[in-house]
Amino acid sequence: MLDADFFRRWITATAASVDREAQRLTALDSAIGDADHGSNLQRGFTAVLATLEKESPDTPGAVLTLAGRRLISTVGGASGPLYGTLLRRAGKVLGDAPEVSEAQLAEALRAGVDGVTALGGA
Ligand SMILES: [Mg+2]
Repeated sequence: MLDADFFRRWITATAASVDREAQRLTALDSAIGDADHGSNLQRGFTAVLATLEKESPDTPGAVLTLAGRRLISTVGGASGPLYGTLLRRAGKVLGDAPEVSEAQLAEALRAGVDGVTALGGA
């Protein structure tokens, strides 16, 4: 079973990946956009980690919902709402259970992807 700590570690690892790849993300964005994708996501995940630290949500659903809300409020453009919707929808599906199974996580991520698809019209 996966608890809130698992989800905190997951978000923390994601933030580290964003840090590591920020320049590359920005370089990719410079070819098709305004060259701020890496720095936007970096700012967003830095804020997410600070919020998780401060509020210490104690269920998987609360970790994802809080992270998603923070991304939406911090990251402009399309990526904040898209990543934020993914996490918020997934968090909502997980509800307030203290631990969730891998199958429940898969179901939650499916709902998150559906939310992104609907929002982006993909
Ligand atoms: Mg951009």
